[in-house]
Amino acid sequence: MSDSEWTKILEWPGYRVYRSEINEAKRTLRLWVRRKRGNRVLVCSGCGRRVYKIVETYEREVRDLPWSEYRATVVVELYRVRCPDCGPKTEKVAPLPSKAPFSKRFEEAVGQACENAAVRRVAKQFKLAESTVRAIDVRYLQRWAAARRKPALRQMGVDEIYLGKKQKFLTVVSNLQTGEPLWFGRERKQETLDEFFQKQLSAFQRGGIQAACVDMHEPYRLSLERWVPQCRLVYDKFHVMQHANEAVSEVRRAEFFRKGGAARELIKGKHWLLLTRWVHLNTNKKRQLNALFALNRRVMKAYLLKESLDRLWSYTYERAMLRYLQSWIDQLRWQRLKPMEKLARMLLNHLDGLLNYCRIKVPLGVVEAVNGNIKALLRRGRGYRDLNYLLLKAQRLAATKTEFVAFQKAA
Ligand SMILES: [Zn+2]
Repeated sequence: MSDSEWTKILEWPGYRVYRSEINEAKRTLRLWVRRKRGNRVLVCSGCGRRVYKIVETYEREVRDLPWSEYRATVVVELYRVRCPDCGPKTEKVAPLPSKAPFSKRFEEAVGQACENAAVRRVAKQFKLAESTVRAIDVRYLQRWAAARRKPALRQMGVDEIYLGKKQKFLTVVSNLQTGEPLWFGRERKQETLDEFFQKQLSAFQRGGIQAACVDMHEPYRLSLERWVPQCRLVYDKFHVMQHANEAVSEVRRAEFFRKGGAARELIKGKHWLLLTRWVHLNTNKKRQLNALFALNRRVMKAYLLKESLDRLWSYTYERAMLRYLQSWIDQLRWQRLKPMEKLARMLLNHLDGLLNYCRIKVPLGVVEAVNGNIKALLRRGRGYRDLNYLLLKAQRLAATKTEFVAFQKAA
């Protein structure tokens, strides 16, 4: 094949092939390219301005997309330029977006493959090290993130994700209107969220935040009050029901620990039944749960209270919501369910944020869906030690909605 035919097949805009080499035994193809005659605009890689002075030429080798069974390498002739602002620099070339030995379209192919498959599989497919695939994917996602417009933050979600014994908690800030995570912070302290407000947003941006869906977790509230005093806190169903589930678990533990022996055996491994909503249980599971209730009425009462608390968010009028909450709390009387009483006190202490649900319309279930997506990524990927990578990945997932987990059930 002639050089001009190779040039046509390679399709690198502005570049032409001037030498080629095929190794049939090794199944490799090498192409040497340089600028076409008309392509003379040089750009400084430091500042992006146009430069005219060439210092020297040099070669760089990058891996490009494979051609059939052949692994392709492109050797590019490049210029070192002298920039009036930056001094001696390399020129900026579109098909070579990074210092890594890969062409842009090769990196894009790897990045796209990573959207649907685990890093390990992509590494196998492209015969690359896993760490290399991860690095390529990060760059692919960074380029995507840099090129898109970021919508304003009006309603935010703050949530925590438990990563495990070692890494503990991750604070997740999300945009409720776009359903995408915006920022990750280590731990779940007031300082954690402070850092987001301080470093990620300008005073103007902070002023634009109208509402925040948060857990009734004191440190977050303190941070929000300090940085976005105008923002209204909304305690959404997802977070409150988490506390309700915890209360039910506590009742179960107290009750069955006291019982000991056979009863304890019977409920072993069934505690998740208590955390599942009745409507989501099949007949068999319902029977199991009823058997459990037959053993202990307090656990049953706690479960029913949790189930009925859910209705609180079916009200759109403050007073109706308040009335329902009052009747719910009334049912606790004489029950001696300490964890439920504790929950009731917590609800009363955060009453305003509960009623805000009626005053401000925030999309339901978004915090939960964001949370679910991140957990799905963590389960699949492992080794997201690089939080920035995890964040980019989750943002991309939300934007493309390829695997967007909508938690219809809980909403
Ligand atoms: Zn420059």
